[in-house]
Amino acid sequence: MPTQVSSVYVHAPFCARRCNYCDFAVQVRKEGDLEGWRDAIAGELRAVQEEGLFALAPSLATLYVGGGTPSLLGAGAMSALAALLGPERLRAPHLEWTAEANPESLTTEVAEQWRRAGVNRLSLGAQTFHGPTLSWMGRMHGPDGPARAIGIARESGLTNLSVDLMFGLPRRLERDWTADLEGVLALDVPHVSLYGLTVESGTPLARAVVAGKEIPVDDEMYRDEYLLAVEMLGAAGYEHYEVSNFARPGFASRHNTAYWDGSAYLGLGNGSHSYADPVRRWNLADWDDYRTTVAAGLLPEAEREEIGPTERGLERVWLGLRTGEGLPVEDLNHEQRQRVARWVTEGWTASVEPRVRLNAQGWLLLDRLAVDLDSGAVG
Ligand code: SF4
Repeated sequence: MPTQVSSVYVHAPFCARRCNYCDFAVQVRKEGDLEGWRDAIAGELRAVQEEGLFALAPSLATLYVGGGTPSLLGAGAMSALAALLGPERLRAPHLEWTAEANPESLTTEVAEQWRRAGVNRLSLGAQTFHGPTLSWMGRMHGPDGPARAIGIARESGLTNLSVDLMFGLPRRLERDWTADLEGVLALDVPHVSLYGLTVESGTPLARAVVAGKEIPVDDEMYRDEYLLAVEMLGAAGYEHYEVSNFARPGFASRHNTAYWDGSAYLGLGNGSHSYADPVRRWNLADWDDYRTTVAAGLLPEAEREEIGPTERGLERVWLGLRTGEGLPVEDLNHEQRQRVARWVTEGWTASVEPRVRLNAQGWLLLDRLAVDLDSGAVG
């Protein structure tokens, strides 16, 4: 019996330029190849159907089009996607349909046609409002780009808006983090996502670090910037509902919540991940490999793994701790409760009863604390 999925991710692999820190599955092109993308997604959907592991629910709850830069695919991209998935699956009034956009490629035509196709949530990659840092990153927009794009989105009727910001950048850039947080607050959007810069191998940034030309941010600055964001966004009425995500009441991302609560999801496109208990699998990352595989009528799977009880336990702990929901304390054994008691002494928890919830200090140590708690499961 196929697992029915009501949350779908679709990857749009094209970017006008590769950012210096990015190791995502992207193809650098001036314009997105809408026809090639649509044919490839259609091919993958046919292969998924033949395989019989996943079936699309008659009515989707969430659809997330990420990238890459979906807005580089142009105004017709979302109606093309709706035709592939089946417009009848996208009619539920509760559907959350998010599409990512970069400021420079979000035009009025794109925003209006996406909204007409059914998109009702837009996630904008701003990262910073500091011009020299945007140039250093290799971003295509300037400091005014996010405000212009948000204006376009709102005029087109898209009001459920999220903005991405990046913290933990090298000190030498002299980016003013307070000013960036004030910049995002001035946009008055209902959702903000934070990303701490990580140095991924194979990127221009990693090469610069190895060559001694760039010094990654130190732990102190990373921590201070994260905590300042938590403080300023909290004071502005945003709920810190997950380690990296902040929302005004009622605007938490429902798609991401599906990843965190263990629901099944289907990922389409190169590099996408899918999950149907107990199988997790991911697609070929390279766009050309992916599209030639689906063109040959094959499933573009790179690898799959079966989640066993040990891994499932750690994952449950890690996913539970990363959200503001936390973990039910009644699920913890005596040894685990003792570990949590130590966290309380250290000041890393927001609550323990009835659920163990980390605070911002605890979230800075999320991976370590998840391993600590999971190892206590056999203690
Ligand atoms: S826009 Fe996003 S996906 Fe594209 S290169 Fe930059 S970071 Fe990577």
